[in-house]
Amino acid sequence: MPQSSPVINPFETAKRQIDIVADLLKIDSGTREVLKHPKRELTVNFPVRMDDNSYRVYTGYRVQYNMARGPCKGGIRYHPQVTLDEVRALAAWMTWKCAVVNLPYGGAKGGVICDPKHMSHGELERLTRRFGSELIPFIGPEMDIPAPDVYTDSQTMAWIMDTYSQEKGYSVPGVVTGKPIAIGGSEGRGEATGRGCAYVIREAAPDVGLKLKGASIAVQGFGNAGSVAANILHDEFGANVLAVTDSQGGIYKADGLNLHGVEEHKKKTGSVVGFPGSKPLSNEEVLELKADVLIPAALENQLTSKNAGKVQAKIVAEAANGPTVPEADKVFFEKKITVLPDILANAGGVTVSYFEWAQNIQGYSWSLAEVNDRLNKVMTESYARVHAVAQERKVDNRTAAYVVAIQRVVDALRIRGFFP
Ligand code: GLU
Repeated sequence: MPQSSPVINPFETAKRQIDIVADLLKIDSGTREVLKHPKRELTVNFPVRMDDNSYRVYTGYRVQYNMARGPCKGGIRYHPQVTLDEVRALAAWMTWKCAVVNLPYGGAKGGVICDPKHMSHGELERLTRRFGSELIPFIGPEMDIPAPDVYTDSQTMAWIMDTYSQEKGYSVPGVVTGKPIAIGGSEGRGEATGRGCAYVIREAAPDVGLKLKGASIAVQGFGNAGSVAANILHDEFGANVLAVTDSQGGIYKADGLNLHGVEEHKKKTGSVVGFPGSKPLSNEEVLELKADVLIPAALENQLTSKNAGKVQAKIVAEAANGPTVPEADKVFFEKKITVLPDILANAGGVTVSYFEWAQNIQGYSWSLAEVNDRLNKVMTESYARVHAVAQERKVDNRTAAYVVAIQRVVDALRIRGFFP
């Protein structure tokens, strides 16, 4: 995965995005201040025993940004470059994401500064359980429900669920989502982010005059979201995936990559790089490739004022959180490139997280077909709503998605009133 730029502070970006929409919606200054501040922030420094019996202190964060619409929801990421401001931005984005697809949730995010690629399974388990135990007073099915994010997965969630349940004295599956199916995870959650992204691309394609059958696709970040979106676009909608990248670099094939082969190669070697028959391509080059659809599916700040003018895609579908900075958005709007913003394009993950939580609370599980049907409905309706607002207000899809989301959060804030 490419490294996020240290220059652009994602929380500054997040606040600028709020200002743009607050101006449009003529939101009063008090409410605007509420929208621009996280409600609650936790920073913990905690020791972890390493395999050589030494101890290291790690720093972790959980930011509960806004809970006007319901319990907070959002992932936990493990990455060496995690900062509090990044977690704040991601928590704000979760708030808008849950609102744009109309889930009864607020937004949160967590992060631990660590390098999971250089930690053993045991070290990761001890780090996760200790961080999870620090979170116990702040999380719960009715308060804040973590999920996987960058470099965390269903195993991470199983450890948090178990740590929380040990403390309570009974099993609490609804405390996290993205769990393994054996302990209350949902069918379809693993591929939901990529599947939701593919559905939104499918809905947007006719609006830009694009036929997905035979359309060309480029993906930055062949991880959970990017690889699933690419596979669905190819297998179910007949698109041609020309290029994919990961943290080591990328590959390109003019007449389309054999994705199943690429996956096998990645499993064997740890990277897509060097896939037989492909040409090498960097994480920067993939963004400028001539392809109908570009899917940034890695980290923040990839599309900036420096490279936005060189993007050739008709659709930029943000499977990642925050890959485009506001200057790049302006360029895309002028160039009539359709951006499917992160809070909509990658909302499939949290949507199926919501289904998982609802199943846990009901004590009842749904079939894969039922999960995917409901996901399809949520993504289709949410895209239609955002597209209609974009047309009405003559704004880009990001602004439209924020208009829908922020209006819903503001309605909830106003109807509840400010305490006391
Ligand atoms: N980490 C994912 C996201 O950024 C999923 C969050 C969730 O399922 O709560 O949307």
